[in-house]
Amino acid sequence: MPLTAYSHRFAAELDLPQWLSRMTGVPLDHLRLEGFEDNWRHAAAQDLECPSCGARGAVLVASGVDRKTRRKVRQATFRFRDPDGGDAHAPLCDFAAHDDPASVEGLVNFQSPKDWLTRQVRVLVCGGIQAGVFTQADMRAMRLWFFQQRQSYRVEITLDPRIPELVRSIWYSKMPSIPFSPSHGDIRDFDWRGVARRMAYPEADGLLALLAERRLWPRDDMVASATRLATRLHGQTVFDVSVFSEKLVLANSLVDFIVDSYGAFRANRTVRLAKNRVDRQPALLALASLLLFKSDWHLSSAAERFARLAAISAPPDVLGNLIGLNPFTDYWSVGLIRLLQDSPTQIDPTLDFEQAVSDCERNLRRAHQAWIDAGRPNHTPLHSSNS
Ligand SMILES: [Zn+2]
Repeated sequence: MPLTAYSHRFAAELDLPQWLSRMTGVPLDHLRLEGFEDNWRHAAAQDLECPSCGARGAVLVASGVDRKTRRKVRQATFRFRDPDGGDAHAPLCDFAAHDDPASVEGLVNFQSPKDWLTRQVRVLVCGGIQAGVFTQADMRAMRLWFFQQRQSYRVEITLDPRIPELVRSIWYSKMPSIPFSPSHGDIRDFDWRGVARRMAYPEADGLLALLAERRLWPRDDMVASATRLATRLHGQTVFDVSVFSEKLVLANSLVDFIVDSYGAFRANRTVRLAKNRVDRQPALLALASLLLFKSDWHLSSAAERFARLAAISAPPDVLGNLIGLNPFTDYWSVGLIRLLQDSPTQIDPTLDFEQAVSDCERNLRRAHQAWIDAGRPNHTPLHSSNS
């Protein structure tokens, strides 16, 4: 159940009280939300659509009030029903299962920004609407376009959820170094464990080379997210967001331009933006993507559009709701999953890597001892310079 819906009549994203207030002319604080006249119910079914999949058939749901305490227990909202009374959402629509736009894949709610950056981006979005750079109808068109992309490009998750964490452990053990020789064991406080970690599972070498080639470093957050996806959605399909790889390059370029050129961001880039890398900021990516979407993904046109909206000094607050979209959610984790499950080199998911390291360390120590017992063959003592 989405809390807002797109109104064709008002070309705006509205929650139920906002929509009813505009329809009836009754101010927001005088609205009754516990029962609706039939003509408003009929109008809602005609006018409103789901903000994600575009389903019609909105049904007004009254706010719920506890009879004893008179406390509000449910916010007035919409449901989308087909003529038979069933759920009208498209099967892949997140609103079929969730209420809150914040929990839906990619949607960025500018209405109630929780952080500094999203508040700044909201002001810019209001400026964009004020300057006529884009409209709420464009934001809706972009959401529907994204929904179509999500339906068209799907990839099945077959990866064992234990694999991403194993790959991370092996990856961080592989520091490039000179190949081990038993003579290295003579080094005082030799790092047996470190060398064993590097050598314990050579079967993964092909896979690690592939990761390096694609520049997909298994970072902690990416691995955690890939593990969650592989656990929750094993055997199901997800949006193959890798189809957006060229668009992500463009969006990141535009985000860089915005951060470098817009005063509030430039001044705060080390303090406020450094914590999270800019390319992982959903609000900024949502704004950049909207500008690019409106510009047919031409970077220079999108930068010109940004200049127009950023010229507005104090845009009026836009009444209604602003729901943007970051189309690149899960880009890295889905990319990691695809690479790991498609790679010709596969890791045994039952591998106990720490045990493999211990076994390898024992073997290295034995090889060193055997080399000593054999009288340190090929051991060439260093000659001093004057001998
Ligand atoms: Zn929907």
